[in-house]
Amino acid sequence: MAKIDLTQSDVNKYLATIDEFWDTFHKGLKAPFSLWNENKEDSKESWIKRVGRTNELVSLLNLIFKNTPLLKGEFPVGKSRFMILTNYRLFINMDTGLVIIPLKDLTFFGEDLFHGERVDETSTIEYKQNGETLIIRLSTYMGGGYVEKTKRAGEYNDLDDLSQSLLSMTHYDYEKKNLNPQNFELLKTNSPISSLFSIINVKKMNMKKWLYLGIGLFFLVYLFSGGANVPDGQKMFIDKWQRLKDVNDTSGGKKHLKDNRSKIEKWYGKFVKHKSTISGDIILVKHDGIEYNLSPEIPLEGLDNNVKSIKEGDKVYFTGTLNGERSLTNSGALDEPEMLVKCTKLTNIDMNIVYFEITQEEINEFRLAELERKKEAERRSRMCELDGCNRDGNGWNYYAESQGTFFGYESIGCLKKYTTGGYCSKKHCAQGL
Ligand SMILES: [Zn+2]
Repeated sequence: MAKIDLTQSDVNKYLATIDEFWDTFHKGLKAPFSLWNENKEDSKESWIKRVGRTNELVSLLNLIFKNTPLLKGEFPVGKSRFMILTNYRLFINMDTGLVIIPLKDLTFFGEDLFHGERVDETSTIEYKQNGETLIIRLSTYMGGGYVEKTKRAGEYNDLDDLSQSLLSMTHYDYEKKNLNPQNFELLKTNSPISSLFSIINVKKMNMKKWLYLGIGLFFLVYLFSGGANVPDGQKMFIDKWQRLKDVNDTSGGKKHLKDNRSKIEKWYGKFVKHKSTISGDIILVKHDGIEYNLSPEIPLEGLDNNVKSIKEGDKVYFTGTLNGERSLTNSGALDEPEMLVKCTKLTNIDMNIVYFEITQEEINEFRLAELERKKEAERRSRMCELDGCNRDGNGWNYYAESQGTFFGYESIGCLKKYTTGGYCSKKHCAQGL
């Protein structure tokens, strides 16, 4: 910690009283990154009561109160069983003691991924302390979306250097300097707080060890991934999308996603769901942040298929042709691509279940039949409107209102105004009424 000269008047200026704490906590419910954002309509009094009824939250608040004062403007924004997050820092109740991580020093918080997918229930917290990188590997999955949101909101960036240094100070540190921040009385609770038992306790790691850990992790997760192979073409497709996304290149994104009509073979994905729509079946699979809407190249009805047997999370390979991207806007496409795929083959990754396979012959046959259907429909549209009459319409139609006068007579009833469409003759026009 950098050496700072701190006076009692600084303490009074920077640190919150208990009343200020509740006031700020209540106002903070309006922050979009707060886990309790949906309680933002609560009055301050009812929010304090609600917190008092939530044993786990009370225990976590006590954990903070026991260890360190809060800054003015600092308020809790989320929690899990053994940790609580404010807009400025993260508190983790480890089995080895409390760890306080100012958000500016938090460099990674999340799941361990393999090919962009979560493969087991572990996660990692990486942070900097005194110039060193520290890593906590957790044996559980924490789903800390709110941590990322809070970090991204970046409120801690507005703190001056003195405030930043206060974030790492405990009551013990203040006492040593003969300073007295307001001590918050502990809230009443009967629930003991859980502490976290990590796979690897907080540990200083040099690059080499980190590398070993990485390799170990790789093997671990490779086993978990069940041997699915992501083809190079798909990897390159994903890499390029991520590069374009990083620099927000929407016109490059349009070319890469919306205008893409590449042939693809044995691309990998996890089954999400199956939709039957008026324009046919859509099989939704996902991999590495990209959604693929597989629509069979020709309708599955009448073809051998067992698409209905695929279950959520099943790993599949799909072959076919990319058919652009379905988001309304180019920026939407770049953010969360939803690729359209004209699909000819769908299998499990062991290749021993074929959900459907469409041969070129079947495609040709279908297209020919489709052409016939179109011609027939076109012929029908030309035909006399009287049921059972196969002659072409000759333009005879019935008009209830006069279409003008000829030789003093009103033109009304069955008339031939045109040369095509309608009925073939005046007689059929009259019969068709
Ligand atoms: Zn006719």
